Amino acid sequence: MKKVYMVSACLLGLATRYDGRSKENKEVISLCMNNICVPFCPEQLGGLSTPRPPCFFKGGDGMAVIENRARIVEKESGVDRTFNFMRGAEETLKIAKIVKPNMVILKDGSPSCGVNRVDIEGIKKEGCGVTCALLKKEGYEVVTYG
Ligand code: SF4
Repeated sequence: MKKVYMVSACLLGLATRYDGRSKENKEVISLCMNNICVPFCPEQLGGLSTPRPPCFFKGGDGMAVIENRARIVEKESGVDRTFNFMRGAEETLKIAKIVKPNMVILKDGSPSCGVNRVDIEGIKKEGCGVTCALLKKEGYEVVTYG
């Protein structure tokens, strides 16, 4: 029986990343070819452009952001993008509620999709992205590839 996977779009070779590139992962593509795959990019869903300025956390990780204890800002300019990242996470959650995925496969290191590590004020630290945090809070199974 086929499973339903929601997948960070960049892992499937879609050029959704902040730098206009993808992060294709052959293992994930192969998994998706044999199952039902729903690609998504929270940062595009949140209204950000591609390419876009890179962002990092201030004051905590994605869990802290959804609890309103931290922010996400553009690295260079300091412009606050928390609204866009929250919106992207909420739109992704809407998709999850419709497709009811068996698992969500996320790209690690991203301020949206990160599962184990994220950039907090210029330093890679243990923590998760905003979309990952919201999906976990809502009880979805989340794993990471690259
Ligand atoms: S937000 Fe997620 S899906 Fe979009 S480019 Fe970044 S890691 Fe990939």
